Amino acid sequence: TATIIPRSQHCISRKQIDTDSLKVLNRLHRHGYKAYLVGGSVRDLLLGRQPKDFDIGTDATPSQVRKLFRNCFLVGRRFRLAHIRFAGNKLIEVATFRRQPEPSELPDNEEEHFHFVQNVFGSPEEDAARRDFTINALFYNIADFSVIDFLGGLKDLEEKRLRVIGDPQVRFVEDPVRMLRAIEFSVRLGFTLENNTYQAIEQHKELLATAAPARVREEIIELFRHNIAGPVLKQCRELNMLPHLLAGYPGTDEGIALLAKLDQRTAAGIPIEESFAIAALYLRLYMDSFSPAQKNNMGDALRQANEIITPHCRYFSIASGIRHQARELLIGCFRLARGRGFRAENRFLQHPLTPKALELFSLWSQVRPELMPLAESWHTAMTTSATIPKTSKRPRK
Ligand code: ATP
Ligand code: MG
Repeated sequence: TATIIPRSQHCISRKQIDTDSLKVLNRLHRHGYKAYLVGGSVRDLLLGRQPKDFDIGTDATPSQVRKLFRNCFLVGRRFRLAHIRFAGNKLIEVATFRRQPEPSELPDNEEEHFHFVQNVFGSPEEDAARRDFTINALFYNIADFSVIDFLGGLKDLEEKRLRVIGDPQVRFVEDPVRMLRAIEFSVRLGFTLENNTYQAIEQHKELLATAAPARVREEIIELFRHNIAGPVLKQCRELNMLPHLLAGYPGTDEGIALLAKLDQRTAAGIPIEESFAIAALYLRLYMDSFSPAQKNNMGDALRQANEIITPHCRYFSIASGIRHQARELLIGCFRLARGRGFRAENRFLQHPLTPKALELFSLWSQVRPELMPLAESWHTAMTTSATIPKTSKRPRK
């Protein structure tokens, strides 16, 4: 049973919907298919926020969708989707309504299991029920411009509550990544979580370590993109999720304070790169990994950087280019922290990664203010060194 909110009683206007997505919705509708805006876009429009993307749900099968659009191709082994391409490399995702299959329908083969689970077509109501939170399960129907609410998501939106669809105990076991998403969305939107959600996290947090690393990695990157890495990982620490989420990440107060500084930088409009995020995650641990005797030794600096980030990069299958860059950022911070006047300082100042390392070091100096004068001094040196032409050959020592 659905609550249908007619156009006159909600705030979503077609003007707010991306024009290409509207074209797709209208075309599906004209051909007699159901066509809904689904997921995060409906939530964000109702909250007066700008949606990141406008995903579409329909009862047309992927191949029926493909027949309607010239610029359409089907993607995804795990989850068959239609992607419709528009000018400027823009992609609009169209997914056929799906449902959770009955246990008796499931194949025995573990491998096929996940694939199968994701690809049984269903009704709109079933599609709503398989989603994670009630506020993520609202639909906007292009046929009459109404909002369809199967699960009480509107009331939860009004009351700023993030409610898991169904029993959190069951839904978190089914997909442990939802535990991270629960913290993520509650922080992002400033919504409260219910007690039973916290209890289910407490009970099942270990399962995070069994989730597909690629999916965890993607959600972690989302935290950085939405500049909420600091507060989310702080909550994850308080809920003892960290050892299961990011095994090598200790999440101390200072480490988390650095992430909050990084969030401020992202909020100011500076795009976040994964290498920078990885270096920021492990910088505190790295900086404190040196004994006084090691403070000048570049060999130790390199070895310890490798030791600290390699497990993370292996686990999440991070490309060697990104790993290399993260390691260079850590080593750059080591060189910045040991002070001025060492060998090859000019060459270091002109290295292409040094400005980024200094940016990270400056954020770190806001956490450890005794480093601020040093960060300042490096800034000055960098500006001066930038005026020396890069092509000039200086004798190597
Ligand atoms: P945003 O894209 O702004 O981060 P979103 O709500 O669109 O937020 P996505 O990760 O893009 O989030 O997922 C799209 C939709 O798919 C969600 O709104 C939700 O309905 C559903 N969804 C995503 N992940 C899960 C999951 N792990 N379990 C169940 N449903 C999910
Ligand atoms: Mg989305």
